[in-house]
Amino acid sequence: HELTPVDIRQLTEDTVVLIKQKTQAKKVSVQWDIAPKEPMLMYTDPFQVRQVLINLLENAVDAVETGGQIRLSLTRKDQSVCLQVRDNGSGIAPENIEKIFDPFFTTKPNVSENESGTGLGLFVVHKIMTGLSGSIHVESEPGHGATFSICLPEWHSE
Ligand code: ADP
Ligand code: MG
Repeated sequence: HELTPVDIRQLTEDTVVLIKQKTQAKKVSVQWDIAPKEPMLMYTDPFQVRQVLINLLENAVDAVETGGQIRLSLTRKDQSVCLQVRDNGSGIAPENIEKIFDPFFTTKPNVSENESGTGLGLFVVHKIMTGLSGSIHVESEPGHGATFSICLPEWHSE
């Protein structure tokens, strides 16, 4: 896979369209908290980052009630661009926070017709983020939702 400048706002919006069936079926809204004015460019592999976004967004949809909300924001930190994916769903129990990136850890019933419940989504996310020299961070208030933040190197044109 090749590293290239990636407009993360555009890639995120394209990925939201890609999972539209899943969000619409549950009447989940996906919105920018504050829409970024200028393009924020990551230096990364768009195909792998898209997979990360699919996994995070699908988890967020699974976590919320019908009519739930997913909110997105973009920030700059040091030499990185960070995307936050925040949902107002069930949140993560403190005793599970340490386990969610483990392979096969799931709290979902196994649903054969999709990927949900395999417990591999966040394991893959963590693996991809490490491979791309990025980072992933989670914060959660049980009962109120979860926020996953991913940071990847910023593209500098000069
Ligand atoms: P799966 O989605 O197949 O269960 P994942 O690796 O994607 O596997 O996630 C592992 C577990 O982490 C989930 O079963 C769930 O308990 C928890 N989790 C992940 N994302 C969220 C979220 N946004 N809100 C609440 N719990 C989450
Ligand atoms: Mg998942």
